[in-house]
Amino acid sequence: MRPDVLNSLFASVSSFRGIGPKLGAWISRLCGDQVVDVLWHLPTGLNERKPLKEKPIDPTLATLKMTVTEHKIPRTRRQPCIVFGESDLGEVQLVFFNYHASFLTDKLAIGEVVWVSGQMVQEGDIIKVLHPDYIERDPNKIPEFEAVYPLKAGANGKVIRKLIDQIMPTIPELPEEIDEKMIQDNKWPSWREAIQLVHHPKTLADLSPETPARQRLAFDELLANQVALHLVRRYNKKQSGKVLPWQDKLKLKLPFELTNAQQKCLKEIRDDLASQDRMTRLLQGDVGSGKTIVALLAALQAVENKTQAVFLAPTDILAHQHFDKIQALCTPLKVKVELLTAREKGKKRDQILADLKTGKVDIIIGTHALLEEGVVFHDLGLAIIDEQHRFGVKQRVALAEKEKGVNVLVMTATPIPRTLALTAYGDMDVSILNEKPAGRQPIDTRVMSLAQIEPLVERLKNNPTQVYWVCPLVEESEESDLMAAEKRYAALCQVFGDEVGLVHGKMKAAEKDAAMADFISGKTKILVSTTVIEVGVDVPSAGLMVVEHAERFGLATLHQLRGRVGRGQEKAVCILLHGRLSQTARERLTVLRESDDGFKIAEADLKLRGAGEVLGIRQSGVPLFKLADVAEHAPLLMLANEEAQKILNEDSDLQTNRGQALKNMLYLFKKDKEIHLLKAG
Ligand code: ADP
Ligand code: MG
Repeated sequence: MRPDVLNSLFASVSSFRGIGPKLGAWISRLCGDQVVDVLWHLPTGLNERKPLKEKPIDPTLATLKMTVTEHKIPRTRRQPCIVFGESDLGEVQLVFFNYHASFLTDKLAIGEVVWVSGQMVQEGDIIKVLHPDYIERDPNKIPEFEAVYPLKAGANGKVIRKLIDQIMPTIPELPEEIDEKMIQDNKWPSWREAIQLVHHPKTLADLSPETPARQRLAFDELLANQVALHLVRRYNKKQSGKVLPWQDKLKLKLPFELTNAQQKCLKEIRDDLASQDRMTRLLQGDVGSGKTIVALLAALQAVENKTQAVFLAPTDILAHQHFDKIQALCTPLKVKVELLTAREKGKKRDQILADLKTGKVDIIIGTHALLEEGVVFHDLGLAIIDEQHRFGVKQRVALAEKEKGVNVLVMTATPIPRTLALTAYGDMDVSILNEKPAGRQPIDTRVMSLAQIEPLVERLKNNPTQVYWVCPLVEESEESDLMAAEKRYAALCQVFGDEVGLVHGKMKAAEKDAAMADFISGKTKILVSTTVIEVGVDVPSAGLMVVEHAERFGLATLHQLRGRVGRGQEKAVCILLHGRLSQTARERLTVLRESDDGFKIAEADLKLRGAGEVLGIRQSGVPLFKLADVAEHAPLLMLANEEAQKILNEDSDLQTNRGQALKNMLYLFKKDKEIHLLKAG
């Protein structure tokens, strides 16, 4: 049960004066309809009202003392009421639309001396104020500074400020959940003080994420986040998993030695599979670091133990490619591999599903089609999800829940900064492939203007290697991507004839296969594509990549795309063609030119674009945090991670006083689901 001390924080905003159904709905859309939601809605700006000293040449937010001299009350409500006055700076007119005349004549009786504050505009010799923000007899009642909140159309910031004024006296002092020394060292205010401070900025500096108050609140949130993730991880681990020890019965013949990093990660996975605890592990490694083979070796360990493995890929093309390669490697071992995507239909599909159910199939590779209900296993030991960032948590869970005790291995080639990994994948154990197979040469990346496209096409005539030509994202729609790709395809066909292929997401499956197969076999030399080739595609003979309008892609995407070349022994080239560049866009392309290290690129991307973009969260519209900013508060996130671990080690079910205080924070940040994972939660 939620502790009573938090009740006032979960009160509905509609219980406050002035918040009717309409404003209530507006606030709810803006930030949520509980007090705590409003408290987490932090100001992003500051209004300062100075006494008006001279006539306002430009509209100015200011305060002015005046004496009321006259009213002009119109006969219809459509016309404004005007209140005339005299000030040290001359005549003043206050203009009101849709006001009750009596309200004005009461508050602004003739002869009354008042301070008015608002946007002052000069018209001729007269100072005009439309709907003053304040009209007071006591100037001290007009704040010199006020918070400016991010808003949505429909109402203005005054609503939030007035609500905050009402809320402030109702908020409780909460017991401290942060380590005392940390509070002292950082000079952090208490939770209640911090809330007061962030909503009453006095200078622009008070809006910075660096202030002790904002840091403190960010830490509250990060700590709650990390504790919640630790609880989930602990819960996952306690679930018993299928025990699948490594027996070395199925010996894969590989044309190369595993890298040290591959061996290290494989060992971690092998141990997990052998143990009674269920595995939930992330294998993180840069493009081309060789994740597939590690996953396959893990799958074979499941097969050795007479269980099945499933391999989920985000695109058709990738599933197909994995199938071809894995089947070729597994056939000599008499391991039965199958493919299931949306295109396996009718009898074929029925047969595959039947074989899965009876256990005839050992390894099944496929796309989303694998998540459908009709897909039932005989005995699933291991679920592998390739390119995890292309899926949601939902799909990961759906696959993991196909059977009880299934071990889960997820892989991602989008290296994300460690700080983000802590939150995005904090509920998993992590293995990192931080080494690429030997002999790979760095990719020579060049940044060029689109104006160079003709000489570039000319040079392609003498280019010995195969070429990927990636067309730009025109908008967020596939249709328009397509048109760009088709146009480029037509133009290149004019020069290179049937040496050009085309592949995009809207093609029929068979056409896609044919286009990929032609490229793999070398029949086509240039493959024009949309970003469908972004993930996983592995054609080692491709040595040149051209990306049109590179500035329209995210850094991570470009890095992934670039990873399609340089997979063989030859030196590969990547040409980033750009249109007009903003300063940030230029910096981003420079990062890419100078670095081939996915982790470094991800860090830079985080700084330049923010966390949502890097994780692809922006599309889903759910911000990662309300108070913390992962780029700005990265060190705090690290600390929160350590603290969470420490606290749970000492007080595993949050029973001590500090534990209870922390539980309050879990409630405030709406981690109710995770609280239930605690004993007596
Ligand atoms: P990614 O991590 O991007 O999924 P892949 O698994 O597609 O990378 O591997 C990239 C390429 O490197 C493949 O052609 C694969 O066969 C090859 N490869 C993987 N491991 C090694 C290794 N240890 N030595 C040499 N080549 C390797
Ligand atoms: Mg891969």
